[in-house]
Amino acid sequence: MDYKLTELQQGLRQEYDDFFREEMKNAPLVYQKQTLEAIYDSDEGWNFHVQMREKLVEKGWLAMAWPKEYGGREAPIMEQLIFSEVQSYHRAPGIDAFGFGMFAPTLMLFASEEQKKRLLPPIARGETNYCQGWSEPNAGSDLASLETTAIKDGDTYVVNGQKVWTTGAHRADHMFLLARTNPEEKRSKGLSVFNVAMDLPGIEVRPIHYMNGGHLYNEIFFNNVRITESNRIGPENEGWQSTRATMNFERSGVGLFAEMKRTLEEFMVYLKTTKRGGKFLYENSSVRQKIARLYAEMEAGRSLSYRIAWNQEKGGLMIAPHAASESKVFGGELHQRMANFGTEIMGLHGQLEGSEWAPLSGKMPFDYQGCMGYNIAAGSSEIQRNIIAWVGVGLPRFK
Ligand SMILES: Cc1cc2nc3c(=O)[nH]c(=O)nc-3n(C[C@H](O)[C@H](O)[C@H](O)COP(=O)(O)OP(=O)(O)OC[C@H]3O[C@@H](n4cnc5c(N)ncnc54)[C@H](O)[C@@H]3O)c2cc1C
Repeated sequence: MDYKLTELQQGLRQEYDDFFREEMKNAPLVYQKQTLEAIYDSDEGWNFHVQMREKLVEKGWLAMAWPKEYGGREAPIMEQLIFSEVQSYHRAPGIDAFGFGMFAPTLMLFASEEQKKRLLPPIARGETNYCQGWSEPNAGSDLASLETTAIKDGDTYVVNGQKVWTTGAHRADHMFLLARTNPEEKRSKGLSVFNVAMDLPGIEVRPIHYMNGGHLYNEIFFNNVRITESNRIGPENEGWQSTRATMNFERSGVGLFAEMKRTLEEFMVYLKTTKRGGKFLYENSSVRQKIARLYAEMEAGRSLSYRIAWNQEKGGLMIAPHAASESKVFGGELHQRMANFGTEIMGLHGQLEGSEWAPLSGKMPFDYQGCMGYNIAAGSSEIQRNIIAWVGVGLPRFK
């Protein structure tokens, strides 16, 4: 693998960087902490996300690597990666992580031609917002045991059940849903994937608020919701195969590592400008060793993402499960180590939010409290390690 960017790629990186640096000057303050939170929680954050998305569409950057017939312009996947890296570094919104990042590549691999032509262009034009309807009160890590049913009735499916932890459902107009089409089959064989409009009669979205009132997550209730057969993606009862591909799209990506690079740079400014006991923090050898280690780990994580994109450019969209799980578990746990380091070096100041004395605009309490979520969302670290041991290392499957 060649890690060097071409002259063209370097030029593009600079162009993206100039754009986001300028645009993010107008971002609401909340974007200095974390992008997902900023997008979904407040109307102000959401409106900024929508405006940014319109600008990205206008520039032809949103779905640049997609085939032309679905709204893209067939740019190399590496260019898309460089774009995502710069965008995440600037903590910029504008991309629907669910529709664009997970469902669209799944559609390209598993949907019929009619479905691709109908569903992909609105995502490329930034006209839709998706959420992910997978987890249930009794099905998280063991997703294949889910109980929401979709029973065929003529040319529709009737859906009943409940989903939970549905990020951004209160802003979404569509969901990709995994439901049981064969109730006789209790495991993965009886599941199907559906494209669902959130305004269908019988869908109820209830918020799950943070302790501080923040709103990212939701519960979704389905009460005799009718979905047309034309919105079932792939063959009936065979949705697990495409869902596993969607999981790998969710678990990989350069965004988290790029955001961590930015945070590390902010840590470095803090170390160079803050004194303890008469000495700058950067003069402390233990601090130096710790930040150097974090930086090296961030670079290692980044190269995992580059390797995945490079493989996709050579061999197609599908991502090897162990590669996605490696990236996911490494990124989630590194994020936690970073939050611990930042909180440690900032001491009591690192616990402040909304104060002129809060370093990094009050990012640390958010990172410290939120980092555990990264090790659970998109499949817990234990599950990722099981996948790596099984698919990556070749140990017999542990049931
Ligand atoms: C921030 C956040 C956002 C989320 N967003 C969404 C969303 O948008 N849509 C959606 O559908 N879901 C979402 N989820 C749900 C997420 O996918 C589940 O929380 C996750 O899969 C774990 O499931 P669970 O919570 O039921 O925990 P459980 O499955 O009950 O796991 C509990 C503990 O047991 C461990 N465990 C379970 N099975 C095994 C095993 N076989 N071997 C070893 N250890 C095991 C787990 O690692 C974990 O530590 C989100 C979760 C979080 C935290």
